[in-house]
Amino acid sequence: MTEMTDAERQVYRARNTIHNAIMDLGRERGAEMVTRERIRGDAAFGTVRDLAPIDGLKAAREIEFAAQHHFRDYLRRAREAGHSWRAIGEGLDLADLTVAEAAFDLAAGDRDSYCALTYGRSVTWRCGECNGLVIDHGPGDVETHQPGCQRFAREEAEREREWQQEWEGS
Ligand SMILES: [Zn+2]
Repeated sequence: MTEMTDAERQVYRARNTIHNAIMDLGRERGAEMVTRERIRGDAAFGTVRDLAPIDGLKAAREIEFAAQHHFRDYLRRAREAGHSWRAIGEGLDLADLTVAEAAFDLAAGDRDSYCALTYGRSVTWRCGECNGLVIDHGPGDVETHQPGCQRFAREEAEREREWQQEWEGS
């Protein structure tokens, strides 16, 4: 098994905290409880008590909206405390975003959403040259194309050049 990075550890810690909040809220709402395998189809890992799926969905959604409420609240307070939008962006680790990444964000949605953290983010499209299905994970990170696709080769070379320039310019 590969070593977990600090960033990954933080994500897991946040997920645990939120799962506890979801469980608490579900119980308060009188959710149905079930016992399920910790890892589906693998009895060796034992069982856990959890909210029944639909009740879990409802509680998770409520927590999501509540988190958004607090996010906006902190944002407002940050502006009130005199922080610039740039400082806020830097505080949220958006400082390294390139224009290309910002454009991808618009298409692929919030990088911190549950969906993004769980499944990754992608936009799929069909290559106009090789007709291969492309799973596009953002600038410089695409899967497939047909073997030998010229467009893929060109875009890789272009990205290589951009990296080179950034390296030399910094
Ligand atoms: Zn292609």
